[in-house]
Amino acid sequence: MELYVGDGLVFFATAANKLHLDSYYIGLVDIGGCNVKRMNSWLKQLTEAPGVSGYEQKVKDLLKSRLDGKAEVSYDRIGSIIFKKTGIGSEPKIMLASHMDEIGFMIKHITKEGFLKFTTLGGWWEQVMLGQRVTVFTAKGEFPGVIGSKPPHILSAEERKKMVEKKDMYIDIGAQDDQDARERFGVVPGDAAVPYSEFTIMGNEKMLMAKAWDNRVGCAIMAEVMERLNHIAHPNIVFGVGTVQEEVGLRGATTSASVINPDIGFAIDTCVAGDTPGVTSDQASSKLGKGVAISIFDASLIPHAKLRQFVTGLAEERKIPYQLEFTEGGGTDAGKIHLHDAGVPSLVLSIPTRYIHSHNSIIHWDDCQAATDLLVAVAETLDYAKYRELIE
Ligand SMILES: [Zn+2]
Repeated sequence: MELYVGDGLVFFATAANKLHLDSYYIGLVDIGGCNVKRMNSWLKQLTEAPGVSGYEQKVKDLLKSRLDGKAEVSYDRIGSIIFKKTGIGSEPKIMLASHMDEIGFMIKHITKEGFLKFTTLGGWWEQVMLGQRVTVFTAKGEFPGVIGSKPPHILSAEERKKMVEKKDMYIDIGAQDDQDARERFGVVPGDAAVPYSEFTIMGNEKMLMAKAWDNRVGCAIMAEVMERLNHIAHPNIVFGVGTVQEEVGLRGATTSASVINPDIGFAIDTCVAGDTPGVTSDQASSKLGKGVAISIFDASLIPHAKLRQFVTGLAEERKIPYQLEFTEGGGTDAGKIHLHDAGVPSLVLSIPTRYIHSHNSIIHWDDCQAATDLLVAVAETLDYAKYRELIE
């Protein structure tokens, strides 16, 4: 099955970006017959957009332009965006939640010497932070910076064995002192610092490396599904949601579920890939390129068993590759959605992601295609009778 790219797709790359992108594609053939170049251009914009928790506006703007005129738009009141597509029936209401935020940093203090002390937004492990580039967004613009580290030459044997703690880290933007940081750069406490990393197509062109796959890949899939629904008579109402602040406590899922009042919930997110050295299959079971991951358990949700059976049955019927996945150390937006009001049968569809929660994570194109196809199949077949069957 090919990955569908709808008509009239809007792209937002600057001329400079486009030139840069073109150089990527020399010799690249279409994958599955779809327009890889257009899709990758869209993914580049989504992943490179800055959008740490609480600062998701640019991601929201991208989604809004992409689905402009193709779905009814509304909002919750803390930043989430809701796209509504009414089919030939009005029940059930299906919510597809993809969080727009990425993990990052917020400046909390400027030292006398002009270094920026920060707090982390979302779950970071110290070992992947030191020496990494960030972009600091201030009222005066965007400025490159780096999370400073001591060179090994001056570390004692004892120090080398220890992990530097987040509280001892700082961002260096090249300011001379605190006054310079405030005046030339416009830094104030509360400014966001965003991981810096370029979207990169790997030697195997189905494998894509970028920052923020968690969860811009979910946003991309949600947008793709909503677009495809324009060509399909689905017996329900589908709400595609870009939620805010998932990484700091599934907050936008809570508020957007209140706006929608869904009957069925799906979180579209990423999960830890278990196919790298040192990761055992009882720690993480999903593998890149083996299909969309369907969750059997995570720390925030026991997925609705009948809904899961319905979805896996559909995947088998349509020959869409899938794998079962569990996450003991994490949750998704579905963790909040399923507890909304009297409860909402919910499930998580994930894209296996290597090096999740770091500056450079890797996903596989085929898994995105499978997730998109499966969600479209759900929208095509989940009618009121089926919904009653699920909850009774
Ligand atoms: Zn995450």
